[in-house]
Amino acid sequence: MPVGERVLSLARQLHCMTEECDTCGRSVSADEAIRRETIGDLDTDRWQTLCCPDCGARLRTVFVGPD
Ligand SMILES: [Zn+2]
Repeated sequence: MPVGERVLSLARQLHCMTEECDTCGRSVSADEAIRRETIGDLDTDRWQTLCCPDCGARLRTVFVGPD
């Protein structure tokens, strides 16, 4: 997949995202979320974890490519 499509794909995922934090109850948009490497066996080139900017709780793991 061309890089342009990969970026667009990720942007599309994040654009729609607003997660409510289970820990502190805050609504977190994709722009506000902190990105971290995933925990466990997932390939960090392909997956990133979005975390709450207030309490640091994990909100969602997103696929960032390449396929
Ligand atoms: Zn939180």
